[in-house]
Order: sequence, then structure tokens, then C-alpha cells
Amino acid sequence: MTIVRVDAIPVAYTEPNDCNSTRSLLLCRIETRDGVVGWGEAITQFSEASRSAAVLLEGLSDVLIGRDPLEHAAILTELNKRSWWYTYGGGIGAFVLSALDIALWDLRGKILGVSVSDLLGGALRRELPVIASTHAFNASLDFEVERHGAYVNDEGYKGIKIGMGKRGDARLGYEIERDVDFVAKLRNVIGPDGLLIMDRGQSLAWSVADAIRRTRAFDEYQLTWMEEPLEPYDVEGFRRLRGQVECLIGTGEREFTVRGYQRLMSEGISDVVGFDPARAGGISGGLEVIKLVEASNSWFNAHAWSSAITTAASVALSASTNRCLLFEMKPLANPMQNELVIDPFVQVDGVIQVPTGPGLGIEVIESVVDHYRLK
Ligand SMILES: [Mg+2]
Repeated sequence: MTIVRVDAIPVAYTEPNDCNSTRSLLLCRIETRDGVVGWGEAITQFSEASRSAAVLLEGLSDVLIGRDPLEHAAILTELNKRSWWYTYGGGIGAFVLSALDIALWDLRGKILGVSVSDLLGGALRRELPVIASTHAFNASLDFEVERHGAYVNDEGYKGIKIGMGKRGDARLGYEIERDVDFVAKLRNVIGPDGLLIMDRGQSLAWSVADAIRRTRAFDEYQLTWMEEPLEPYDVEGFRRLRGQVECLIGTGEREFTVRGYQRLMSEGISDVVGFDPARAGGISGGLEVIKLVEASNSWFNAHAWSSAITTAASVALSASTNRCLLFEMKPLANPMQNELVIDPFVQVDGVIQVPTGPGLGIEVIESVVDHYRLK
């Protein structure tokens, strides 16, 4: 088996779960001489990040071409040697290494005829509980209560996670009484057993006092966790907050490297550790982070909010540990989940099945990739 081709493919698509904004990703395709193809992804989000990462990935392709893809560790070592100067701490280089790592795991599974999940030691669970993870966008919060209630009551999701301060007219996260009223109504509509997570968007600038007030008030309605109530670097703020609230606190999705996670977790401020394989070292990075999560008795939460490639990688990782509470899926059909692969991931009765097919267990449709290629 020899790698003969490495392609970096920036794509852009309309995301209905984010108020129909245009989002960008970098897909990575690695092909062997025998025609076996592995897919990876970087969640670059912005077109300039996708284009930059594509240039970088193409520049590193000579590290892979001519190599046996099963020499995964040796290839990663070589990639690290070439990129150490510009990936220390993360950045565009971390996107590239993440995409390549995921593609190499996919390729390995396909070559050996086993699922990534089995390569990771076998799934501890064959299915994961699923919540609808989305952003509120409508100016009428009653509309949003009804919409999110229907995800649970009509579609079967186990709960909901709502991003505040996002695009659109919902204006969540600005007026505390309105926010609390919304959370109270959500709890009422999803019932006592529904999982309920609120996530402060990065554009909202809350003081520590704001974060404490909101988290305490939301927690009156049995919040499963509060996500990033403060900027992740505000360690002291997180400490003050955690001293005054009972619900779990989540942060981590903005880390880029295993070293970053080590630092974050050594501070002891995150109960629910967000992780995106398409950003922080791929599946290999995820395995390292899961070890840290398990050692600290915290929870692993995949930030799977992009394509079916990241979903597949994230499901395999999430199923490999008992320290995972749930899996997030975007409730509205979207191109990178529902068009990109032959059998899209869907939740049925509030669970998602762990793929059992070779590699990531997905079949990417190349004409769809071409259709969404960033021009
Ligand atoms: Mg988040």
C-alpha cells in the first residue's frame, strides 16, 4: 500500500442551523495506489482559514506521498517535525494535522477492513444518546421554545443545546430576565428528563458576575451543563463561578492541542471537556484527550458541528469511553451532513448508532464535494 495522492479541498456551504450563514471546511482526501481513499476534515469555519489550510496541506503532501499509510505514527512524527515552528499552540497548522490524521485513520480502517471504532479497541456502547444542538435565531422566543420542544417531543431527541448570542434576531444572552424566562419555558416544554444545555456564544461579553447570575438562575431549571460562560482563558473567573454554582461547567472546544488540554485540565475548571477532532489533532488527539478526561473523572463532549466526516470520527471517539454523556447533532438537514455521504447520520428514538463499516464507516460522494468546492 502506497499513498499516491493527497488532496486539500476547501468547501463552503449554507448552514441552516446557523441562520443560513455560509460556513467553510477543509476536506482532505488521501488515495493509495490501489485506489483506497481516506477522508479527513478540518473545521476551519471561515473561507480564508480554509484556503490557508489548503495551501499548507498541499505543502505537506510530500511527507505522505510514497509512504505506506499504515505507518501512521511515523508519518505523524514526520509531519510534526516539518510543522513544529508554526503549529506550536495550534492555529492553521493544527487544522491541517487534524484533517490528515482523520484521513489516515479512515484509510487504515478501509485497508484492514475494520471500523475505526474497532481500531480504537471496540465501542463500549453501540449507540449514543443524541441531543439537538442548534442556535436560536427567531425574534420570538416563544417560537424558539416551540421549535426546540418539538425536537424532543416529536422527533425524539433526548434534549437540546442552544447557542446564545448567535446570528439572527433571537438576542439571547443580552437580557437576563428574558434569558431566564426562556430557559424556564424550555424546561417546561421538554419535561423533567430532557437534557438541557445553554452555550454562551463567543460574541457575548459577560462579566464573571453576569456568568454567575445567569448560571445560577438557569440551574433552577436543572441545567445539564453551562457551556463556556466565560472566555476559556479566564481561569480565575471560572474558579469563582464554579464556587457558586452546582451544575456542570463545560469548556475546551477552542483548544488546539493535547498540550492545551493538559494545561486546561490541570486548572480543574472544566467538568465537560469540549473536543473537536477536526481541530485538535484528529482521532489521535482525541484518544489523548480521552485519557486525560478519564483520569480526571470529567466528561468528554465532541463538538461535532460540521460534516459527516467529523461526526463519524467523533462518534467513534465518544463510544470508546464511558465518560461521555451525550452526542450533539444539528437538527435541521444540512449539506455537509445530509448530502455529503450515502447514508447520512440520523438519530432514531434519540440515539445514533456507532458505524460498523470499514474506516469511518461513511461513503463520501465525490460529486457533492465538487459541488461545494470553494471557488
Ligand atoms: Mg460550544
